[in-house]
Amino acid sequence: MSAERNLLRSLDYSVLQQCMHCGLCLPSCPTYLETRRERNSPRGRISLMRAIADGELETTKAFAKEMDYCLGCLACTTACPAGVDYGTLFEAGRAQSERSGAASGPLRGLVRSFSLRFLLFRPRALHAAGRLLWLYEASGFRRLLRRSGLFSLLPRRLGELERQAIPIRRHFSDAVIAAVEKPRGPARHRVALLSGCIQDVAFSDVNRATVDVLLENGCEVATPRGQSCCGSLHAHNGDLEAARQLARRQLESIDPGQYDAIISNSAGCGSHLKRYGHLLAGDPEFAGRAAAWSARMRDISEWLVEIGFRRPLTPPAGAQPVAVTYHEACHLCHGQKITDQPREVLRAIPGVELRECPESTMCCGSAGVYSLTQPVTSGWLRDRKVGHIRSTGAAIVATANPGCQLLIQQGLAMGAGNGRGHPRVVHPAVLLAEAYRAETAGGGHSGG
Ligand code: SF4
Ligand code: SF4
Repeated sequence: MSAERNLLRSLDYSVLQQCMHCGLCLPSCPTYLETRRERNSPRGRISLMRAIADGELETTKAFAKEMDYCLGCLACTTACPAGVDYGTLFEAGRAQSERSGAASGPLRGLVRSFSLRFLLFRPRALHAAGRLLWLYEASGFRRLLRRSGLFSLLPRRLGELERQAIPIRRHFSDAVIAAVEKPRGPARHRVALLSGCIQDVAFSDVNRATVDVLLENGCEVATPRGQSCCGSLHAHNGDLEAARQLARRQLESIDPGQYDAIISNSAGCGSHLKRYGHLLAGDPEFAGRAAAWSARMRDISEWLVEIGFRRPLTPPAGAQPVAVTYHEACHLCHGQKITDQPREVLRAIPGVELRECPESTMCCGSAGVYSLTQPVTSGWLRDRKVGHIRSTGAAIVATANPGCQLLIQQGLAMGAGNGRGHPRVVHPAVLLAEAYRAETAGGGHSGG
C-alpha cells in the first residue's frame, strides 16, 4: 500500500515513536485487564501500528479487530509518563483499518453508511427517526411486541439492538430552548451552546438545564439552529474525512469569534470539539477558525468553575440530604483532563454528600457504539461499573456524557449488582439547575 494511502505511514513519525514500552499504562487499560494479553494493551497496539507504518506488517483483519476491540477510552494517556498521543494513533489506526478494507463486511458497511453518512449528516432525518422511535415507545407498540415474545425470534444482535434503543424525549432541544436567551441582569458573558445530536433528541432536558445554569450565572446563551453533528462518532469510528466535513459545517454555522465560550455538556463531543484545530490544521481555509474554535471550547463544568459560578442556596429536592456518586466519563477525565470541576459543581449543591465511586475513571463500556459492536466486553464493564456504583450506597449517579448515562441506566435497570433499588442517573448540570429552580417558588429558568 502506498504511503499516501496508508494513514499510519503518513502520520507524524514522532507520534509513533513516543512509546518507550514501559508498560505503566497496562493496569489502566480495560481490554488488557480483561484478557491479560499484550496485543490487547496500549503498548501492544502501538507496536502493531508502528509495524504497519514501517511497512513490516500489512493492515490485516486481525489488526482491524484489535482496533475495534480498543475502547478509545484514553485511560492509557492519563497513565502514560511519556505523554503518548494515543488519541491521534487510535483515530489513525481505526481510519487505516477502514480505508484498507480489512474491517469491511456487507452488514457493517450498510450500518455505517446509514448511521454515520446518512442520519448523522442530516439533522432533519435524525429528528424524523427520533420522532418515530418516540412514537414506537409512547404508543405502547414496543411493550406490545415485547409481551408477544416476537423479539425472542430476532437474531441475537438485532434483539440486542432493540433492547438498547435510545429513549427519546417528546420535545427536542429547539422546542424547549429559544435561539437566544438572556439572563435577568446584564450579561457578563456571551456563549454558544452545542445541542448535539443524540443529546438533542434523547437529553433535551440536559440541554435545557445547561441553559438554565448558564443564565443563572450571567451568560447570554445562543443555541444556533441547524447545528450539525460534531463528527466525534465519525472520528472515533475511522471516518476522518466525514469528521472533517462536519467540522467545516459547524465552523460555517457558528463563528467562534462572536462568543466568549462555546459550551458542550457531552464529554465525548467536547473532547472531539476541542480537537477541531488539530483536525483541520492542514486546511488553508478553515485552520485559523478551527484553532479559534478549539481555544474557546469548554465543557459546562469547566466553564462554570472558570467564571466562578454561584452556589445555590437550597437543595434540589426539599431539605433532604442526598448521597451522590460521580462516574467520570472517559472523554472528560482522560480526553479533556477535567476531574475536579464536576466535583466542585456537585459539592456546591446544598444537601449533596459526594461519595467517591471506586474505579471512577474506568470506562463503563459505552464508548460510542462499543456496546453494539463489542457487547460482551461492554457488558462486563457495565456490570463492573454498576457494582461499584451500588457499593457507594448513593441514591444519585452523576455523569456528564449521554452514552454513559444511557448504559449505566440500562445496567441499573437490568438489576446488575443484585437487583436492589435503582439510583437516579443525571448530568451534574441537571442537579445544579434543580437547585437553582428550587430557590424560587414555582421554579422555571430566569432568563429568556
Ligand atoms: S484507549 Fe482504552 S482500551 Fe484502548 S488501549 Fe487505551 S486504555 Fe486500552
Ligand atoms: S503508552 Fe506510555 S505508558 Fe504505555 S508503554 Fe508506551 S510509554 Fe509506557
